[in-house]
Amino acid sequence: MSKPVILTGLRANNDLQLGNYFGALLPMIDMANTHAGAYQINLFVPDLHSFTTPVDHTALHANIMHTMKIFAAAGLPLDNPDIHIYRQSYIPAHSELTWILDCFTGFGEMSRMTQFKDKSARLDEDRVSVGLFNYPVLMATDILLYGASYVPVGEDQTQHLEFTRDIAGRMNNRFGELFVVPKAVPEQHKFFGKDQGLRIKDLVDPTKKMSKSDESGKGVIFLGDDPDAAARKIMSATTDSMGVIHFDREQQPGISNLLQILALLSGVPLDQAVRTWEGKERYGELKTAVATETAAFLKQFHARLAAVDEAALEAKLASSEAAMRGIANKTLLGVQRAVGLRP
Ligand code: ATP
Ligand code: MG
Repeated sequence: MSKPVILTGLRANNDLQLGNYFGALLPMIDMANTHAGAYQINLFVPDLHSFTTPVDHTALHANIMHTMKIFAAAGLPLDNPDIHIYRQSYIPAHSELTWILDCFTGFGEMSRMTQFKDKSARLDEDRVSVGLFNYPVLMATDILLYGASYVPVGEDQTQHLEFTRDIAGRMNNRFGELFVVPKAVPEQHKFFGKDQGLRIKDLVDPTKKMSKSDESGKGVIFLGDDPDAAARKIMSATTDSMGVIHFDREQQPGISNLLQILALLSGVPLDQAVRTWEGKERYGELKTAVATETAAFLKQFHARLAAVDEAALEAKLASSEAAMRGIANKTLLGVQRAVGLRP
């Protein structure tokens, strides 16, 4: 019996920020380490998804490789045979199966996707591509090619997972058992545990979350930031005029965010960091402490990045991609036969 498959993607549209690191990267690596053994873990960069909205194509390949290096630097093991790390476009079956499934997907069905409505509304009409429109089909193939049961889905992806289940069921009903149908959203949530709900806030506007595609980037600590420049961003973080440190996300969002960042970077529980600072009056001291930790973290992370064994990473990608081509081509052949493209 082959192992049940957990699959998760890591989009490489920009340098990652501190929130991605603590809110996504570390939990993903932790998940992979916890479940490898009983499960097969597929971690992939959905590179074909990366230009459904406009990107800088001259930087794309470098960004993708940089993201892979960040994962390795953050502790993703490259030598675990249960953990596969690959780039979607290196497995041509993704594109081929997408075309076939496109022809079994309703135009109306895709038109109802709220992600498409949201994202297309933010672009000029002539920049809304057919790729953006049918990317849920590509996402379905990402999952179905490998028979993945478990896919961590955030709020914005639940509709796409439901679609994946629909199209898999539809094909299975019509042609026989072609696909493993991934688990429904509530079971996904149960399996992956409760989202910790961690949200690091923007330093300039602490009422919104830190985001890697933020326009100014002034309130964002990127993993690639120069440590001193990052420390300066912390020193000029927006706070308040209350004059006393309290952890209160409503009344003192800036101060609360700094306490949260400090706790994460220094590896202490939030309530302990809060107890240390609660009631103190010098915001400057808190900022200096956070700035110092931030610069130290970045310095250390950059050293870890520089120490990533690129040859080992390339070898891991090559071997995972070869293995994934084998699995994906087998699924694809079953579909090609079912629809009459192969004898
Ligand atoms: P974009 O601006 O491109 O949407 P983003 O920084 O919001 O980028 P996403 O690609 O949307 O990042 O999300 C990647 C992962 O990082 C998700 O799992 C998301 O929950 C997590 N994440 C993003 N921002 C934060 C944050 N500020 N705090 C904690 N986790 C975050
Ligand atoms: Mg986002």
